[in-house]
Amino acid sequence: MCIFCDIINGKIPSYKIYEDDYTYAFLDISNDANGHTLVIPKKHCENLLDVDVDTLNNVVKTIQKVTKHYVNNCGAKGVNILNANGKEAEQTVFHLHFHILPRFENDGFTVFPNLEKNKESLDKIQEKLKLN
Ligand code: AMP
Ligand code: ZN
Repeated sequence: MCIFCDIINGKIPSYKIYEDDYTYAFLDISNDANGHTLVIPKKHCENLLDVDVDTLNNVVKTIQKVTKHYVNNCGAKGVNILNANGKEAEQTVFHLHFHILPRFENDGFTVFPNLEKNKESLDKIQEKLKLN
């Protein structure tokens, strides 16, 4: 059992924003950033590591639809999209989800961490991480 599956099947109430055959978008219960929204697939998967590409494609389409709605119709000036994969990456609910944070002028927060400079050189990092 998974709390987001229970939101989709109506066992747990939620503040729905949008729904189609494949995806569901609803307000994050934290009610922190104004309009903080989660977009999830109806088909259960944990995160980006196990989602199939068709499901991911449907989720991305919904992210774009909701983003356009927030910016074009609801007064947001932009959005940040956040996503966590794995507990070390601070994922707490293991049903794939993307956070949409609507942004407004002078909204007073930042989503990018202010990290100290890495000690390893970019040459070394590239050598280790290169995919092709
Ligand atoms: P993450 O840390 O990326 O896994 O985020 C999980 C998010 O799910 C958090 O922002 C929670 O506030 C949110 N959340 C947990 N339970 C609920 C719920 N019942 N309804 C809406 N959002 C929820
Ligand atoms: Zn689930």
